[in-house]
Amino acid sequence: MTRMDDIIDKVLNDETRYAAILDLTKTPLYCDEMVIRYCENNACGKYDANWTCPPGVGKFEDCKKEIEKYSKVLVFRSEYRIEKWYDYQRTEETLALHQANVRRVRDLIPEEIGDHLVLSGGGCVYCKECAYIRREPCKYPETAIPPVEAYGIDIFRFTMKNNIKYGSPEGEMYYFGMVLFN
Ligand code: SF4
Repeated sequence: MTRMDDIIDKVLNDETRYAAILDLTKTPLYCDEMVIRYCENNACGKYDANWTCPPGVGKFEDCKKEIEKYSKVLVFRSEYRIEKWYDYQRTEETLALHQANVRRVRDLIPEEIGDHLVLSGGGCVYCKECAYIRREPCKYPETAIPPVEAYGIDIFRFTMKNNIKYGSPEGEMYYFGMVLFN
């Protein structure tokens, strides 16, 4: 029977240099509605404009309940070169690369794992303009993966508590992905 531990080697590659499975009964995910409040500041421009972000993603209480169903997490980090912090185009490019990387990892999940939840980094950028803006259904629901923040996960606190490198060093851009399972 294939287990999540068995796919770690495949998760790791040139863009994913960190991946680990953590026990959520010992290291909780720190799910807090305050994180959604930060989303409301709309620094990324996707609040109320994307199906994978609040409020389109659903109510915080429901997202929290969903997270609480799981006892383990595969957490991994995508890393990209970026010359300038304010290079918006490159930032969007790296976000799209990360989301494709999360979909790659999703495809590695063994069937035996059963029910699970995949979370990405940043609101979905698969379409040039999210259908949410026109209040139309998501065009590619099989492709869209919500970001950890939309579920209220305080990724900064979680990585800090688990000694996972979080802040991107100069010249690099980091994003996190997660697979929650039992
Ligand atoms: S796939 Fe397209 S429509 Fe669906 S959430 Fe992503 S950007 Fe929006």
